[in-house]
Amino acid sequence: MTRRSGTDLGSPDPQQELADLSEAGLLRTLKPLDSPTGPRVMRDGRELWNFASNDYLGLATDPELAEAFIEGVRKYGAGSAASRLVCGTLPPHHLLEEALAAAKGTQAALVFSSGFATAVGSLPALAGKDDVLVLDKLCHASLIDGARLSGATIRVFPHNDTTKLARLLENIRAKQPAARVIVITESVFSMDGDLCPLTELIELKDRHGALLFLDEAHAFGVLGPRGMGLAAELGVKDRVDFQMGTFSKAAGLAGGYLATTTAWRDLLVNRARSFVYSTAPPPALAHAAMTSLERITSSDGDHRRKQLRENIAVLSAGHPSPVIPVLLGGNEAALEAAARLETRGFLVPAIRYPTVPRGTARLRISVSAAHPPDAVAALASEISPM
Ligand SMILES: *Cc1c(COP(=O)(O)O)cnc(C)c1O
Repeated sequence: MTRRSGTDLGSPDPQQELADLSEAGLLRTLKPLDSPTGPRVMRDGRELWNFASNDYLGLATDPELAEAFIEGVRKYGAGSAASRLVCGTLPPHHLLEEALAAAKGTQAALVFSSGFATAVGSLPALAGKDDVLVLDKLCHASLIDGARLSGATIRVFPHNDTTKLARLLENIRAKQPAARVIVITESVFSMDGDLCPLTELIELKDRHGALLFLDEAHAFGVLGPRGMGLAAELGVKDRVDFQMGTFSKAAGLAGGYLATTTAWRDLLVNRARSFVYSTAPPPALAHAAMTSLERITSSDGDHRRKQLRENIAVLSAGHPSPVIPVLLGGNEAALEAAARLETRGFLVPAIRYPTVPRGTARLRISVSAAHPPDAVAALASEISPM
């Protein structure tokens, strides 16, 4: 695909680019829902089982969480009006960070307006042109963009390939013994639903004097004791230097976080541009996030995680996460499969390049504890012939 093909020099007309995308089966359009989100949604006048959202615990439409949001607005008003450094920080952001650090077992945490803002703000604060960021090939766009913005040297290792990573780290250390080196990966990969080999990654980064930045976006609320993620599940949270996550998925709200040491947190407060130069998220959001954190870490959270595991097992026995890909290869094949499932009453998105590598278009099923088991079983019988 050529950018700006078929237009005069410098012409701003985007029609040709859109036509190119459409030709390649890569055009995306916004489709309105006619209902709130939830396990069941209305689209184009039809009711569909929603296997497209990341609301793994069913908290996005939870009445207690909605109430907490309303209570937050009553207590603190609608907006936060300035960056937290400018006006003084409002209590809910601070309280959320303390509760999160306590739940995560880290010295400190810092919240951002989104997971994306967390990645693009923190990576450039942690690394610069003399440093090296080493990313798994399948890292999320926010991590890639954060790494690019940092100006550090970027190296990429094949997905979950610890042999290649070991070789890469040896080479980097041979050439740049003093550089800050940060290995960046995800605990649950967002489009494949597999896990990183966390214990091996920790051994490797320790052996080569590197740091580890772990994006737990799809593991927070889902994996580990009290839902505190993969590092907690494997009992290695003290050995992960930066635990990133988001309140936008299992937590049912919005807003990103980084859990780390006090010193790293203090550095981010000074240097993370998406924190320093952006208005603080609405205080009511942080207030509601505290309720979400309480729910996630409670016995109700344990109950929802058990239901979630049972639902996952109906679709794919032994699968480690609620993200279940059905690989189809071609863009058109994925689009057709999604359209066919929609006629059968299921909303399952087709995922294409550039979200996933070319030639690996797929359906991406996301399972929730809120799905009734018989709806999951019905979807399982739809996809088994694929
Ligand atoms: C969704 C996602 C993010 C971004 O989080 P938002 O809060 O939605 O901005 C970051 N990393 C991964 C792996 C994600 O899946």
